[in-house]
Amino acid sequence: MPQSFHPPQRMLLGPGPSDVSPRVLEAMARPTIGHLDPQFVAMMDELKSMLQYALRTKNALTLPVSAPGSAGMETAFVNLVEPGDTVIVCQNGVFGGRMKENVERCGATPAMVEDEWGQPVDPQKLEDALKAHPEARTVAFVQAETSTGAESDTRTLVEIAHRHDCLAIVDAVTALGGTPIETDAWGIDAIYSGSQKCLSCTPGLSPVSFSEAAIARIRARTHKVQSWFLDLNLVMGYWGQGAKRAYHHTAPINALYGLHESLVMLQEEGLENAWARHRSNHIALRDGLEAMGLSFIVATDYRLPQLNAVRVPAGVDEAAVRAALLTDYSIEIGAGLGPLAGQIWRIGLMGYASNPRNVYVLLGALESILAAQGYKLTRGDALAAAQAAHAAQTDAPKAAVND
Ligand SMILES: *Cc1c(COP(=O)(O)O)cnc(C)c1O
Repeated sequence: MPQSFHPPQRMLLGPGPSDVSPRVLEAMARPTIGHLDPQFVAMMDELKSMLQYALRTKNALTLPVSAPGSAGMETAFVNLVEPGDTVIVCQNGVFGGRMKENVERCGATPAMVEDEWGQPVDPQKLEDALKAHPEARTVAFVQAETSTGAESDTRTLVEIAHRHDCLAIVDAVTALGGTPIETDAWGIDAIYSGSQKCLSCTPGLSPVSFSEAAIARIRARTHKVQSWFLDLNLVMGYWGQGAKRAYHHTAPINALYGLHESLVMLQEEGLENAWARHRSNHIALRDGLEAMGLSFIVATDYRLPQLNAVRVPAGVDEAAVRAALLTDYSIEIGAGLGPLAGQIWRIGLMGYASNPRNVYVLLGALESILAAQGYKLTRGDALAAAQAAHAAQTDAPKAAVND
């Protein structure tokens, strides 16, 4: 007889999923009701306005796509890109590569702007690409590259795109909730995120938001959107405010309760406080890691607080350290991808998981594991450095969310 599945209690400090708040899990266990039930519809309206709060937008077309971040990405591309278009895709890690795939599958031509992994997107290179491709209608890039821990300057890149009459698609899967995003103030045309990184929710939902200019582009399409499920013209019939809601697909009811709860938590904490908390715990982790002699691959100015890419020191077995963390401490961290495979660890401090306790426990575990591998360090230094960093930040929120 197969038995019920009982997963272990992990500490999820990788590139996602991150730890889910117990409040979110509890919300998801509430009774399933109909997706056209008036009470559910009222919850959807509230969820939408909380997403507008998190994304700092008044965009009416703001909703959670019923699928993971990758589907949010696909929603942006299939709706805004038409066959024959040229799309400037900036790539400085894994996810820019996926954008290129999306463009090709839309029957369009990607013009690539490439930067080294670990570097932000270079605005000058974007400017040059737009000059070389006056036919381009769209620019796409990733704000927070989860594969490298580098943050690109969304405000500047969007401004350049607009100057060349392009719409800007921004990947904010890892950025949302952890680092500032100003959808309206920066003029972002299409933005998508994910529920399982800095929003402390389970994987499987993708908040998206589209500007008026993006909607005008969608309405003026000459080709049908090739994906029925992701065609926003149809999805809008279900999520549209005030409009009579029509059946499109059965919404993932309980998953949406979870996202609703995670956004209630974000509002309770305050978006700016959430950004400050991610920053504060990042600084403590950084000081702890540096006290151990470890270093970051991303330059200080472009480092994401929620994704810390740390060099594996010479002589240390990268995979063995991760395995020991998981087996002996039940802590998950991430490995490097692509050209960074074997070179780095990716330590996520995202959402609910971004708290002092996790920083201290991870540092203690790492000290012990690295020392056992023969790496030279003084036991206790890392914890002391992290605690000193927290103590020095007198104005930063230190506590975990509702812990
Ligand atoms: C995780 C991630 C995605 C994909 O999200 P899924 O929920 O895994 O589909 C896309 N872009 C970035 C930058 C990510 O970190």
